[in-house]
Amino acid sequence: MTREIEKKLRDTVRELLEKETIDRIVGYEAGSLKFSTTPLITSNKADVDRLVINPFTHSNLSVFLRDLCGKVGIVAKGCDARSTISLIQDRQIARKDVFIIGAPCDGVIDLAKVEKLIGLDRDEIDDIVWQGEKAAITFAGSTQKFSAKEVLADSCLGCDPSDFKECDMLIGEIEPIVGGKELGQDRIREMEAMAPAQRWEFWKKEFSRCIRCYGCRQVCPACFCDRCFVEETEPRWISPLPKWQDNLIFQVVRMMHVAGRCTNCGECERICPANIPLGSLTKKMEEIVDELFQYRAGTDKDAPPLMAAYQPDELEDLMR
Ligand code: SF4
Ligand code: SF4
Ligand code: SF4
Repeated sequence: MTREIEKKLRDTVRELLEKETIDRIVGYEAGSLKFSTTPLITSNKADVDRLVINPFTHSNLSVFLRDLCGKVGIVAKGCDARSTISLIQDRQIARKDVFIIGAPCDGVIDLAKVEKLIGLDRDEIDDIVWQGEKAAITFAGSTQKFSAKEVLADSCLGCDPSDFKECDMLIGEIEPIVGGKELGQDRIREMEAMAPAQRWEFWKKEFSRCIRCYGCRQVCPACFCDRCFVEETEPRWISPLPKWQDNLIFQVVRMMHVAGRCTNCGECERICPANIPLGSLTKKMEEIVDELFQYRAGTDKDAPPLMAAYQPDELEDLMR
């Protein structure tokens, strides 16, 4: 299955480059570690055979689009496609400069979950593939099947990868993740069930571990300011030292900045070396944005960005 899809992708991209429909492609190639991928950015037709599509295509490739010139083809999962549209809405890239190749997405697999589940290291696993609604994992001479909920990255739980409307070409069929929207709600509901003081203690503890590496900002396509407020010295908004209070402010302000832009791709949480559950913040923020403004990031290239539009009658209750 994956091989057929990969062949179709490679043939398509080769043709697009040959016909000069695109100048370069941003896609995925196999990573140096087992069950990993790394971004591949190339204008060379000879590189096209390195493109892959598999359940380990974690990176949100739209983060590269602002820095690439010419017409760029992007292999886009649902979240990447929506982030791309969001960048168009924010006029960070032009629609004419990007060619969106919608890729099938069954969700990306969280290898840490798999390793914990079967008690083995990635190097001891022989194969991981989707078989219908289950992930079939081959290790120690046998194959076991696991549900999506057991192995998917939390950001993919409850996602509808087909929820984007702007695409130049589709490679394969795109369907909602099995299990429905409620599948991704567990962490949010747990957080909501906490008393405010308990929730405060929870985040205080989490942000005490932040080393302010800014990895979460760097991988995020919605974090595109050339100069981030944390680097300002006049005024200095927060201390450069990773004290938990400043770490918390950094993340609260970041969340405000990406509200209406964040597509809940999960990259910030995946990249965090301190394993801070940033996805709980992004998912809740997405829910609030939907509830208050009926707005879903990156679904309409012609809509004004959430924070750039104002309806005179909106939030009247709040203003009273
Ligand atoms: S968040 Fe959705 S579109 Fe993105 S990788 Fe996960 S399932 Fe696919
Ligand atoms: S990636 Fe994690 S450790 Fe690094 S700045 Fe972000 S929250 Fe802090
Ligand atoms: S804030 Fe995190 S989840 Fe949202 S778009 Fe940025 S990297 Fe993705």
